[in-house]
Amino acid sequence: MCSAELTTGSAGSAAGPGFRLDHAAVKAWLSEKDPDALEALWQEADRVRKAHVGDDVHLRGLVEISSHCVRNCLYCGLRAPSRDLDRYRMEAEEILASAWEAHRLGYGSVVLQAGEDPGLTKEFIAQIIRAIKRATPLAITLSLGERSDDELRAWRAAGADRYLLRFETSDPVLYRRIHPDLPGIPSDRFAQLHRMRAMGYEIGTGVMVGIPGQTWDTLAADILRFHEFDMDMIGVGPFLPSPRTPLGGPGAVAFFADPEHQVPNDELTTLKAVALTRLVCPDANIPSTTALATLDRAQGRELGLMRGANVVMPNVTPVAYRVRYEIYPGKACVNETATACQGCLEGRIRSLRRRLGKGPGGRYSNAM
Ligand code: SAH
Repeated sequence: MCSAELTTGSAGSAAGPGFRLDHAAVKAWLSEKDPDALEALWQEADRVRKAHVGDDVHLRGLVEISSHCVRNCLYCGLRAPSRDLDRYRMEAEEILASAWEAHRLGYGSVVLQAGEDPGLTKEFIAQIIRAIKRATPLAITLSLGERSDDELRAWRAAGADRYLLRFETSDPVLYRRIHPDLPGIPSDRFAQLHRMRAMGYEIGTGVMVGIPGQTWDTLAADILRFHEFDMDMIGVGPFLPSPRTPLGGPGAVAFFADPEHQVPNDELTTLKAVALTRLVCPDANIPSTTALATLDRAQGRELGLMRGANVVMPNVTPVAYRVRYEIYPGKACVNETATACQGCLEGRIRSLRRRLGKGPGGRYSNAM
């Protein structure tokens, strides 16, 4: 049986007796192999999900508004040195049309995501937020990377509701290696998350499972950090190597922790991380990620939803742009039209006997 299965629930965790969730226990669960113990973990994550956020699966329409990026992240295909990418920045009208499509399909919110692109100016984004708010009841989530407080305040004032900024890893040494600073500007995503919360955003974060250099201790610390920060939204997906990046080529070997400590970027470990995230953050919105669906096209989405997740982010970017937003290769559903995608997801959600969420699906509107 699981070495983590000891006595009582940890502080703040919603997990029942038998689920002690301190660092040692989370770490032990992450490398648990016993099928009976894992079955107990899945059931507990699903029970806590149902008790705290219910059976609704919220759909967020994802619009990938620009593939330009000034950063040099070692994991991401959009990084500035990827010179062979056919970069794009959507026009305001195109973004509005995509948001309208999300609304037409019945989604309660839209996520505007991009590389870190200074061409997406403060005023351009503020105008888009105002226009979407005028035309639709959609909640708006931004995922535009590290931006100035001035920009973040202006976007919040224009009506943006939420901001996604994954901290990627809680290990500061690994973070600096895989996410180099811009010259003269130290990157501190935790600080930005704090400031955005003070500005009134719902804040979302997350990590990749199995990024080279991530150890079991690091991933356990990441999960406990979600709890400490009381994050509103948490995305946990597998790291998928992109051949355009240093972590996707043969040189990646140099980044790996020794085999005993390196976390694999596989489906099972990702599902354990999702389940444990649900146990430590019972009422957070947790997506079943596209990266997980990419790793397991047959049932990745469903397994995420069965093991703690309650959100899916269908892509509503025009197909012609989507294929050019290549964070990692082979992204699931990249050629599906938004309408086809909606039909497929609805079927998958109903097959799990779950409901389509209505309305914006904010953290505090999930309350049971
Ligand atoms: N520029 C924004 C949005 C980035 S894309 C930002 O930096 O916040 C959103 C997320 O995709 C990233 O935060 C990262 O966790 C994830 N991602 C990037 N490259 C990936 C890869 N190769 N495999 C899996 N996920 C990746």
